Amino acid sequence: MVIDQTIEQEMLQVVKRITKQQIMPRAVEVDRTDEFPHDLVKILGENGLLTMSLPEKYGGIEASASLLGMVIEELCKGLAMMGTTMLSTHAVIRMVSLMARPDQLEKFYANLSSGHKLCAFCLTEPHAGSDARAISTSAKKAPQGGYILNGTKIFVTLAHVAEYYLVFAKTNPDEISAFLIHKNSPGLRFGKLEEKMGLHGSSTGDVILEDCWVDDDALIGEEGQGWKMLSEIGTSMLRSWGAACMALGVGQAALDYAIEYAKERKQFNKRIGDFQAIRFMLADCAMQLEAARCLVRETNRRVDLEAPNISKETLAMVSMSKCLATDVAMKVTTDAVQIFGGYGYIKEYPVERLMRDAKIFQIVDGTNQVQRMIIGSILLK
Ligand SMILES: Cc1cc2nc3c(=O)[nH]c(=O)nc-3n(C[C@H](O)[C@H](O)[C@H](O)COP(=O)(O)OP(=O)(O)OC[C@H]3O[C@@H](n4cnc5c(N)ncnc54)[C@H](O)[C@@H]3O)c2cc1C
Repeated sequence: MVIDQTIEQEMLQVVKRITKQQIMPRAVEVDRTDEFPHDLVKILGENGLLTMSLPEKYGGIEASASLLGMVIEELCKGLAMMGTTMLSTHAVIRMVSLMARPDQLEKFYANLSSGHKLCAFCLTEPHAGSDARAISTSAKKAPQGGYILNGTKIFVTLAHVAEYYLVFAKTNPDEISAFLIHKNSPGLRFGKLEEKMGLHGSSTGDVILEDCWVDDDALIGEEGQGWKMLSEIGTSMLRSWGAACMALGVGQAALDYAIEYAKERKQFNKRIGDFQAIRFMLADCAMQLEAARCLVRETNRRVDLEAPNISKETLAMVSMSKCLATDVAMKVTTDAVQIFGGYGYIKEYPVERLMRDAKIFQIVDGTNQVQRMIIGSILLK
């Protein structure tokens, strides 16, 4: 892929401005109300951020992994759910782009190119989390043509608000297939929304399929290719490294707030930043974030060079990036709370929100235990 530096730089400038002027001022309110901020998503759409993975013909720039990663990182400095909204939408677009037929893509792209449309990724079920092969949602050939799907997907980011749902279902007991389902399909409905520790404002809920009929065009790729989409393409096409980029943004925001606070807060007639204990904590946070950022950027560069045939070494790096960046973000946000002292624990200050938000990235998109299993299995192959 040819990367146009000018477009990248312009886009990053736009994202920095939106984050500072429009997202950051809303972060406290979105966290308090936990309501999905449709107005902020509209701003993403108006600035071309929701369509940046699409081809030019449909208003996109076929954004590279590197650019998407930096955009997501920047948005998460303002509000973590902006990152998950982007991640979910672009992960689905990129995964579908690699496996769908041209005529399926025409229709999908054309629909996404107008309005501010979002996409959701539907894999997890009540009894199938890390063990994704254990899903029980079924897709059976319908007598009149097409497929009938039955099952419940839980914890779906953008449930209720997305236009399209990429649903993984079993077409036979050993075979997972992927279906792109429009929100208005008969038999698709939404269940409860979850109340979460953090990541407020993001709509996390159940997607229920009850004799949900879809035509043959909903099947993406061939029957049985869903696992390939999940294990190879999915990992490299955004989901895991997307979590790494979001974590970097949240971690960096916490460090920035902590530095400001350490310059202002005085105890024992000194700025707390003048105490070596605080200074070393800040230095360690900066070091770890920078190291994680280097790994994430290098991983994304390799993904761009190798896509769609990502090597095992790069897949291991995707998992390493996800683990390292999300563990670092958890450490940095926790240290930021410590640096704020008692005020760090109070909602009036931003760092407790960042600490709650950081936690999710160690869990979603393959838990950090699962990522370590992937790294280990690639190392020992
Ligand atoms: C806010 C939020 C948003 C989400 N968004 C989405 C979404 O958009 N789409 C979607 O499909 N899902 C989504 N999820 C689901 C998420 O991906 C899962 O929660 C995650 O994959 C873990 O699955 P689980 O919760 O069932 O935990 P489990 O798989 O039950 O794991 C429990 C614990 O056991 C560990 N564990 C499991 N297996 C092993 C093993 N073999 N070796 C060592 N340790 C192991 C795990 O690491 C974890 O610590 C979301 C979840 C949340 C909370």
